[in-house]
Amino acid sequence: MRIAIIGAGASGLFLARALAHKGMDVVLFEHRESAGKKLMATGNGRCNLLNKRLSSDCYNDPSFVSPLIHEFPFSRLRKLVEKDWGVPLYEIGEYVYPASLSAIAFGNYLRGSLDGEIRLDSKVGDYRADEDGVTLFHDGLRERFDEVVFATGGMSAPKFGSDGSLNKVLLGHGYQFNEPRPGLTPVLVKEREGLKAISGVRIKALVRLLDEGNEICCEEGEVLFRKDGLSGIVIFNMSSYIARRSLKEPVLEILPLPSLEGDRGEMLSRWKEASPGHYLESIFVPSFASYLLERSRRTGQTLESLIARIPFHWEGNGGFDESTVTIGGIRTSEITSDFRSKRENHVSFIGELLDIDGICGGFNLSFALMSALKLADSLLGEFRGPAL
Ligand SMILES: Cc1cc2nc3c(=O)[nH]c(=O)nc-3n(C[C@H](O)[C@H](O)[C@H](O)COP(=O)(O)OP(=O)(O)OC[C@H]3O[C@@H](n4cnc5c(N)ncnc54)[C@H](O)[C@@H]3O)c2cc1C
Repeated sequence: MRIAIIGAGASGLFLARALAHKGMDVVLFEHRESAGKKLMATGNGRCNLLNKRLSSDCYNDPSFVSPLIHEFPFSRLRKLVEKDWGVPLYEIGEYVYPASLSAIAFGNYLRGSLDGEIRLDSKVGDYRADEDGVTLFHDGLRERFDEVVFATGGMSAPKFGSDGSLNKVLLGHGYQFNEPRPGLTPVLVKEREGLKAISGVRIKALVRLLDEGNEICCEEGEVLFRKDGLSGIVIFNMSSYIARRSLKEPVLEILPLPSLEGDRGEMLSRWKEASPGHYLESIFVPSFASYLLERSRRTGQTLESLIARIPFHWEGNGGFDESTVTIGGIRTSEITSDFRSKRENHVSFIGELLDIDGICGGFNLSFALMSALKLADSLLGEFRGPAL
């Protein structure tokens, strides 16, 4: 069986690896000058591939992902990567990385150990699917394949290659998309005054997301301040909640010192007594302490209430350039549970091109892997023919 995979990113490489090692004739088409550019930038250069807490509630569409996770639980994914692919893994808490802790080493290994062909700088213009297979129009040529798989990713971080450039072609074939939007991004805020001085400061905090006064969700983590807003894993997750639910007036409340229990106003009075003049600097780094004092003076909000919660009104997100995953994409109603098109024969879709996105922590690469494995099983099963 001859299979064309369009997009040599994470899911395309995972699928190619699964198929080529079972003897399939695989050709990967990549429009950039090298394969796996985004994969090699993941996890701050370490590639957070899996998560021990893999579960459907970490995704936007739990009912679609649930049977997939049932079939490919964390233990099975881990075994496959370590035993079948020969890539030892390393855990840091719930997060799981290649033991090299190098996304570049992992990407190079995947590319290097492929038996399939990778065609770089290749432009796919269109395709025609019929009863017997697919004709691919690329680079001024037409070429025949038994199957074509689209693994072109979302629109996030286009500098790594995924820019939605084939979406128009797929729309032309009648596929329904949910509008792609940036997910897992920094949040831009209205209260920018004074932020420049604390740009780069990180604090542990409980973050509450509110809309019109109602709490939407709440998560503990590290908040990183920027001159125009907030960043960090917990903020990234909140940005996706905001984008998915089209909230009207989102407010992020930062509650510093999440481990403190009790009346913060009373504690502040005690700290003041114990260390007059320097009480805030014993709790926070000096620049953050000054920010709180200055914001309290400027806004009239008491220091006690600021230490209890610092409100920031949402003004926007970092756009696709700063986004880690795309919300939206081809609707899951367009595909079968094994990632085949319901609209056309011999056409399939995997990875972030689909309207599936997860929170931070390895869940998006896990989906790229699970979707590739599920489709590989389906294609290999068809190649072998029905069991007698
Ligand atoms: C900076 C950063 C860090 C991240 N870190 C993590 C992490 O640690 N853990 C995690 O789980 N997720 C992480 N993600 C998200 C994760 O990388 C993606 O969800 C995952 O790569 C999606 O895989 P994919 O194969 O669907 O798409 P991609 O990896 O984007 O691959 C798509 C490929 O298709 C190619 N392509 C696009 N259009 C065409 C075309 N018209 N013709 C030919 N080729 C085309 C692209 O060039 C690209 O190579 C991170 C994302 C970013 C941006």
